[in-house]
Amino acid sequence: MSTSQSPVKPRLGPSERLLNLPPYTLATVLQARDEKLRQGVDVIDLGVGNPDMRPPRVAIETLQAALDDPKVQNHRYPSFNGLPEFRAAITQWYQGRFGVTLDPAQEALALVGSKEGIFKFFLSHFDPGDTLLLCTPCYPAYLGQAAIAQARKVEVPLLAKNQFLPDLGAIAVDDARRAKAIAINFPNNPTAATETADFYRDVLRFAREYDLFVISDIAYCDLSLDPSYRARSFLEFDRDKERTIEFHSFSKSYSMQGWRVAFAAGHAQALARMHQIKSNTDYGVFMAIQRAAIAVLNGGQDYCREVSATYRARRDAFLEAIRPLGFPVAPPRATIYVWLPIPKRFANSMEFTRELLDRAGIVVAPGSGFGDAGEGYVRVALCDSEERLREAGTRMAKAGLGY
Ligand SMILES: *Cc1c(COP(=O)(O)O)cnc(C)c1O
Repeated sequence: MSTSQSPVKPRLGPSERLLNLPPYTLATVLQARDEKLRQGVDVIDLGVGNPDMRPPRVAIETLQAALDDPKVQNHRYPSFNGLPEFRAAITQWYQGRFGVTLDPAQEALALVGSKEGIFKFFLSHFDPGDTLLLCTPCYPAYLGQAAIAQARKVEVPLLAKNQFLPDLGAIAVDDARRAKAIAINFPNNPTAATETADFYRDVLRFAREYDLFVISDIAYCDLSLDPSYRARSFLEFDRDKERTIEFHSFSKSYSMQGWRVAFAAGHAQALARMHQIKSNTDYGVFMAIQRAAIAVLNGGQDYCREVSATYRARRDAFLEAIRPLGFPVAPPRATIYVWLPIPKRFANSMEFTRELLDRAGIVVAPGSGFGDAGEGYVRVALCDSEERLREAGTRMAKAGLGY
């Protein structure tokens, strides 16, 4: 790239950690989408997991009241770890939702979104070359963040034959010994897989055997599409918070993704180390938003039930519409995604994604962007109306895009 004649100015170039970043696969798809939109195509966008619901009324009302409060307190710099009332609400929520007891002073931490928090966990615990066991396909930020942290990532595949749960026994002993942590996310983005109690027990046993820390992400724990399923917290198993950090977010359960509020719970020292990074890199969550978040935690469960019913109806509408196309897909029990295997005649998920856009005007996320084991699938986000999801299925049938 550089020319021999003159030294390139400025001398500033990208860092090694930036060059280490994998390409953001979905960006290619979104570019192609924008081109279709420019051409006037009526695009059905099921690409990004971006909830399209109104946040809970109590969130909006509490935020408004906090903004109108004549005291300036809410507008000042917040503390890095969150208001004591917010941390208390987090621990009460854990107690009520999972029967897990947390110390609000040390075992709960407010986050400006869990994406931010997960990264700061890596920054405060991983040196370049440290090994991370990462169950994939996964939320793509994990791949990018592990790359920026220059971690040595070992992907543990989530396969259909194992109900998309990792086969811990298949992890190379050498990798397990070298690893510092294992990252799990159930209910899972993108496969929609759900955990079982036995599986969580196995993960804890495995983590103890190899002295691994467990990073658990429960972003979808209250979006249950099957009323008989109720997601667990990993802290129900690691009750002493011996080796667990768990992340939860307001983004999916409460459709508050633009508000940037989430939290971590678990191992006190890990949270304290993250706090050290946070105190040098962010300023915590806007206090007016924390007040709204408290109100939501204290009374948002009806909201979760309602939006779950909406996502369930959307799931059913979509699956019903594609039923004649013969895709071997079981109805997801949780999350806002359908993980669709691609028809055999397509070489890879990107090719099927392009075909869906070109021939049916539908945007999905190609599975290859979620890690190695994501190839062979596309992710359909249930983030448009029942009617539009049914229309998507009808368009696929018309375009002959069956399995
Ligand atoms: C969407 C998502 C997040 C993002 O949460 P924010 O709080 O909005 O940063 C985290 N984890 C998973 C698995 C997700 O799908």
